[in-house]
Amino acid sequence: MNDPLAVKVRIRNSEGMYLTGGGSNSGFCDDASKALIFDYLRHQVAEQLDEILRTRGIRLEAVPVEPAEVYETCDHCQKYVSAFDTFFDGKLFLCFECLAQVRSISQLPATPTSLQAFTVNGGTA
Ligand SMILES: [Zn+2]
Repeated sequence: MNDPLAVKVRIRNSEGMYLTGGGSNSGFCDDASKALIFDYLRHQVAEQLDEILRTRGIRLEAVPVEPAEVYETCDHCQKYVSAFDTFFDGKLFLCFECLAQVRSISQLPATPTSLQAFTVNGGTA
């Protein structure tokens, strides 16, 4: 099970530019909002930065991203949840736990269409 608050980082070079894009579009940009965001542990960021420094002599640093930048807050329980684990009912962002509770009270459909859209498009946002 993933820790939802695992550290997310941006990669910054010695000039204060952030790593952006992906594949052949990779580059550095001073706009942090365009920076790629990595999972520090899952992407083995420390090891990769070490490798780049050793093999290419380029010093990069990992800059932690505030949880509020990456996560939605459940409007019901106020927990941070990944954007892919939230459900937006038109008024409120809910985590799936709260959604399960709320659904029994209100008239939400059993298979919300917006949730399906999230699942289908997951990861490409
Ligand atoms: Zn919740």
